[in-house]
This record gives sequence, C-alpha cells and structure tokens, in this order.
Amino acid sequence: NDIKTVGTSLNGSSEKPRFLQLVFVDINGASKGMEIPMERYEEAINEGIAFDGSSIPGFQGIEDSDLVFKADPSTYAEVPWEGIGRVYGYVYKGGKPYGADPRGVLREVLEDLEKRGFKAYIGPEPEFYLFKKNGTWKFDIPDGGGYFDLVTLDKARNVRREIALYMPSFGLIPEVLHHEVGRSQHEIDFRYDEALRTADNVVSFKYIVKAVAEMNGLHATFMPKPIHDFPGNGMHLHISLWGEGENVFIGEEGLSETALHFVGGILKHAKALAAVTNPTVNSYKRLVPGYEAPVYVSWGYRNRSTLIRVPTFWGNAARIEYRCPDPSANPYLAFAAVLTAGLDGIRKKIEPSAYVEENVYEMGEAERTELGIETLPSNLGEALEELKRDRVIRDALSGIYRNFIEYKEREWENYVEFLSSRELPLETKEVTEWELERYFYI
Ligand code: GLN
Ligand code: MG
Ligand code: MG
Ligand code: MG
Repeated sequence: NDIKTVGTSLNGSSEKPRFLQLVFVDINGASKGMEIPMERYEEAINEGIAFDGSSIPGFQGIEDSDLVFKADPSTYAEVPWEGIGRVYGYVYKGGKPYGADPRGVLREVLEDLEKRGFKAYIGPEPEFYLFKKNGTWKFDIPDGGGYFDLVTLDKARNVRREIALYMPSFGLIPEVLHHEVGRSQHEIDFRYDEALRTADNVVSFKYIVKAVAEMNGLHATFMPKPIHDFPGNGMHLHISLWGEGENVFIGEEGLSETALHFVGGILKHAKALAAVTNPTVNSYKRLVPGYEAPVYVSWGYRNRSTLIRVPTFWGNAARIEYRCPDPSANPYLAFAAVLTAGLDGIRKKIEPSAYVEENVYEMGEAERTELGIETLPSNLGEALEELKRDRVIRDALSGIYRNFIEYKEREWENYVEFLSSRELPLETKEVTEWELERYFYI
C-alpha cells in the first residue's frame, strides 16, 4: 500500500475522459470494478459488460461465475484527479438481477417500501481517522486535536477541506466538516438524499477520503475502532420516510404514530440488525461504554446515550437518528436491513418501549431490566446468531443472506482461532493485530 502508482498519469488532464470505471461493491461494501474505454459506455448501459465474479468476496464460486455489469447512467461522475469517468450499476446473472449484488438487494427493499407508498431519505455521519503509516502497526498520529478543535491542534484541516471540495464532482453536497473527539479523527457530513443515492454516496465518500488522504501522504481508515482507548468511528444514520411529498414522521407534536412504530420496529430487530450495520469483529470493540457509542437497546429525545435519538426538529426535518451503524457496514445492506426493520414496525404497529431521559450508561442493570432495556450483541458471533433467528431481517437480505452468513461466520471463526492461538479470551476488547491486518484498509 505504500507503493507509488507508476506510469504516465492523466492528472489534471482537461480532455474528455477516455476510460470509464464500472464500479460495484462486494459483500463488505468495498468498491470493486473494471475499466473500459469510454467508447463502450453505451454498450455498458444497454447490453452490459461481462465479467468473472469468482474472486469477488461474497459472490459466486468458480463453478458458476459469469456475471454481467450494467451501468446506471444516473450515477455517472468524473474522478477529477484521475481524468476518468466512473459509474455505478447493477450486476446480472443469466439475464436476471444477481441475488448477491448489494445494490440490487437495496433496490428490492425500496421497491417494497414504494408499494406501501413510502420513500426513504437517509443522511449519514461518517467518521474516520487519518494516520501517518510508519511500516508497523504503531500509528503516528499527525495531530493533537479533539472535538471541534481548530487551527494548531487541527493539523489535517486542509485535507478535510480538500475532500469537501472534491465531493460535488461526485454529486455529494458537503454540509459540515469538523474534527472529532479522537486525536486525528474527523467527520464530514453531507446532504441527505433518497436511500439508494445515499448508499452510493457513502461508497463515493470513502473513495474520495481514501484517495485524498493518500495524495497527502496519509492513510484514512474507516475501521470502527482502530485504537483501543480512543473513540470509535461511527456512521449515525438520520432517517425519515416520506409519502405523497410529505414527511410522514411529523406528528401533531413531536413524532407521528408512524415514526414511533418505525422506532418500535428497529428496537425489536436491533440485535439482528447489528450483524448487518456492525458487520466486523472490530465493530464490537466500538460498542462499549465511554465513547458515545450505543450499548443498550433504548431510545430517547436528544439523548445521546441511547441507540436511537430523536433530534430536536422543525417541520420537514422530522427524523430519527440511528446511532449503531459504523462505516465498516456495506451501506446497501445496512439500509436494506434498517428500513425493513422500521417498516415491520409500521406494518405490525409495534409500540416502542418507553423513551429514556437519563444517561443509560449510568443506569444499574436492575434499572435497565425493569425498563426492558436489553443489551446489544457483544461480538460478531452473537450478532450472527441473532440474525439467523430473525426472519424479517433475513428476508431483507434476500439473495445475499446465505453468502453473508457463510462469509461472516468464517470471519468470526478465523478470529476465534486467532484468539485461542494467543490464549486470549473471547471477551477481549483490545484491538488485535488480526483486526488491524484485516480491517485497516476498509
Ligand atoms: N464516535 C462516536 C461513535 O462511535 C460518535 C461521536 C459523536 O458523533 N458525537 O458513534
Ligand atoms: Mg455528527
Ligand atoms: Mg460524530
Ligand atoms: Mg450524530
């Protein structure tokens, strides 16, 4: 990863792009793709471009891996620093949508939502760290800043601005840039959009952040918990549902009945959802008390110790903030699962438990039990067991469910083997070398 890109570059070229990157994501949400000469763009839209999916994590085995990528021209953008075009799309197999294509999985859920008269809007708050790599797993942290620090403590402020300046080329509208709580931890929020567009935007965002960091000799990581006693990287989701051009989360005073049922649905499925919104071994190192990351299944108004927070809002900004997801999630699968959970709440009119006003981290176990506040899974293994038991969330993952479980169970087993080789307990909350090797580049 420290090897420099070689060859004649097209940097700064003002000519029309001559190459087009066809991008989709694997089961982990990592961008994958191939490039075609721009002359083949029409063909990529209409007939599609064939490729071999056998080595894509979570796709087909080698016995049966002929896939086709069809470009979705509404997503076309130009990568300014590369002088190329790039486009997202859908994967097909044998003329039909390919079941393990995450973008296709989300589209299916959104179509279902639309049949019930809803459109979902999501605004994410992705967090990341910037590191200077020094060839070992000991990090050089290039700044001393904390939450909202400015100037001297905020050494990477220009990098953050450079990222924000590139975002509009990809259709993302930056809204707030700031230093986060951790030293060298940052957040850039961008404008909410319709769910599929936002999932695409999350993929673009990670791509831009990593590229700009690299251009500045840094490495950006979206790993949920890169350093044990530093805050983790979350990706809170602000969600609202609209019907007939109106935000249906707006109630007479506060949230509507529909919104409360949506909250009820998420709380009911929260444990299984974790497997999708927090899908790595490292995700569960973040979900511990002390760092503003959720641990307990609860909700409240303004309360940042809860899993779901209802921000103070005016009119159309009515929304809920789901604080569990982290940026290691595949955004398409995470959105598909969370929206399905909420919709289940609406369909079954699931009442949420009472909202809490106290700091949940400071409650005793007895008090939480009395209020019916459960605890989120404490590791990936537990979360996968919850997912296997939850029909609704399994169905949301439809064609990718089986691959997901298989892939993630292997990930969990590898980690458990690593722990036992080091004689470490399952409850280990320190960040291990195994995690750094596997997740540092996500
Ligand atoms: N980093 C925290 C998390 O893990 C969030 C901190 C914040 O945005 N207030 O979710
Ligand atoms: Mg924020
Ligand atoms: Mg934040
Ligand atoms: Mg937030």
